[in-house]
Amino acid sequence: MSAVSSIPGKNHAGSVEACDVIVVGAGFAGMYMLHRLRKLGFSVKVFEQGGDVGGTWYWNRYPGARCDVESMQYSYSFSDELQREWDWSERYAPQPEILKYARHVADRFNLRPDITFNTRVDRAEFDENSNHWEVTTSDGRQLRAAFLVLATGCLSNARVPEIKGLSEFKGKVYHTGHWPHEGVDFTDQRVGIIGTGSSAIQSVPVIASQARHLFVFQRTPNFSIPARNAALTDEEREAFRRNYPEIRRFAREDSRNAIYAELPDRGALDDGENARRAKYEERWEKGGLTFMLAYNNLLLDQAANDTAANFVREKIAEIVADPATARILQPDNHPIGTKRICVDTNYYATFNRPNVTLVNIRPHGIEEIRDHAVRVGGNDYEIDALVLATGFDAMTGSVAKIDILGRGGATLNQKWSDGPKTYLGLMSAGFPNLFIITGPGSPSVLSNMIVSIEQHVDWIADCLAFMRGRGLEVIEATRQAEEKWVAHVNDVAETTLYPQANSWYMGANIPGKPRIFMPYIGGVGVYRKICDEVAAKGYEGFAMTAREPERVVATS
Ligand code: FAD
Ligand code: NAP
Repeated sequence: MSAVSSIPGKNHAGSVEACDVIVVGAGFAGMYMLHRLRKLGFSVKVFEQGGDVGGTWYWNRYPGARCDVESMQYSYSFSDELQREWDWSERYAPQPEILKYARHVADRFNLRPDITFNTRVDRAEFDENSNHWEVTTSDGRQLRAAFLVLATGCLSNARVPEIKGLSEFKGKVYHTGHWPHEGVDFTDQRVGIIGTGSSAIQSVPVIASQARHLFVFQRTPNFSIPARNAALTDEEREAFRRNYPEIRRFAREDSRNAIYAELPDRGALDDGENARRAKYEERWEKGGLTFMLAYNNLLLDQAANDTAANFVREKIAEIVADPATARILQPDNHPIGTKRICVDTNYYATFNRPNVTLVNIRPHGIEEIRDHAVRVGGNDYEIDALVLATGFDAMTGSVAKIDILGRGGATLNQKWSDGPKTYLGLMSAGFPNLFIITGPGSPSVLSNMIVSIEQHVDWIADCLAFMRGRGLEVIEATRQAEEKWVAHVNDVAETTLYPQANSWYMGANIPGKPRIFMPYIGGVGVYRKICDEVAAKGYEGFAMTAREPERVVATS
């Protein structure tokens, strides 16, 4: 039974366990959701299929893995003590340190007792009689909860592409998103890596420094900006801490991508050639994602975007000694930034090493994988180990793996078969009392995700407290509000260059997945205001039902 039956359920007989809220996933989203709800007095059970907290940082242990939003910003802000006591070692902390931080948070806030690890949520069905979710886990447990929160992650469903012969390969195969915990020693090995997204761009320089030879199989070149990673000094950490109130406020309220940065005041074509080049040079030297903030129209205007893209293409040509290799590395089929921009340490320079070969697979793809080789264009590239840096079924992949049944037994997968439909990225009509953290239709992956996670968690927690205070039992997005929001998300995306790229934002990396621009691009500050206004107007666009015998108190 629910420890604190603040949102009353029914009496549950037999072996069905009950609580107020079930949270799926124990990454940064699930951990903070648990913390907030528990503080409000709700009983919560978290299920995590992995063996520990950390989510992304538990699974992605490939060489070179680190964040690309600066650690002083890519960290929780909900506890001032936490942000003052934790010392990040580098500008961009490596994966082991971020995982250590997640574990520290779990211990510091005593989260573990309410998390069940190594347990997957397989099925969830809404019972319209009792207004409860009935949840089944991989170990056969049956649970009931008034609310279900999906903190399943946007980049948590690693994707292994269908490549002829892959299962026949006689060497070891690794996916960056499921890296072995004991690490991998590539010394003296010939290694192949498929993919040139962020994961590959981080791991290629590190693997190259270890392997006898590294073959990089590239289909689409990506734009990458140097990280300029470095150890953080005490003074730098202190400067951040002194300014944290403003840095965090700005990231939440004023920014588009939840990163504190100097915002541009003009478009790229408002500057002459020399001034523009100087600005790009300055951003290149500074390093990191904020390169794209050099001007305010880089993702809106093709001609403006071309100036930034050309600058990076020139940099690639300067760094890479062999002109033919440099040409293959220069992206030419999408505007810069419309695929997630990458941040690297020595990526392009790695192609100057004698033990690294770039293999352009764009013309025909990989023909097949043989016992000990990757065959491309009739040539066999002999390898001992293969790394798949082939990404994720992003944003919807982990949600789709759960069999979710809402009103009338309709499944979420059926409803989303033409693309995800949500109101504010938080809820989907027909699926009452089901929340998604950083779901499609919210800024999510277009932002410093910890800021977006905290915003969603706070909104959901406040909403549940509001409902409890008013004796409300059910909340559900109205179809009308959802349709309007989906149209708005698409309209805003269409005003940008983003839809031009075959990106995972568009679902384009998964054969057969509908091409819809999934995140909301209006900016986190604007989005937060919308969410706050919705709540202030009594949860406009959501229908709320009181506990029987009272009736609907619906808003909009
Ligand atoms: P996750 O961390 O993905 O956690 C979700 C958890 O849910 C996982 O542990 C998963 O096992 C679990 N789960 C899923 N389905 C089930 C189920 N059915 N049952 C039980 N458990 C389930 N974002 C940034 O803003 N900045 C960065 O620098 C950055 N770097 C990244 C680097 C990499 C390599 C990757 C892959 C992503 C990066 N991201 C970054 C995005 C990152 O995913 C988010 O920042 C953040 O960690 C997401 O937290 P989350 O809790 O929402 O999801
Ligand atoms: P990704 O960006 O989707 O890249 C996957 C790569 O694999 C692409 O180059 C893709 O080529 C290639 N690929 C996929 N299927 C293929 C096939 N059948 N044959 C040949 N090539 C194939 O995945 P990711 O690199 O794991 O990154 C995903 C996201 O996670 C990032 O965009 C970012 O948001 C986050 N991330 C962040 C960091 C960081 O720096 N902190 C690091 C890693 C990941 P095409 O482009 O041609 O499809």
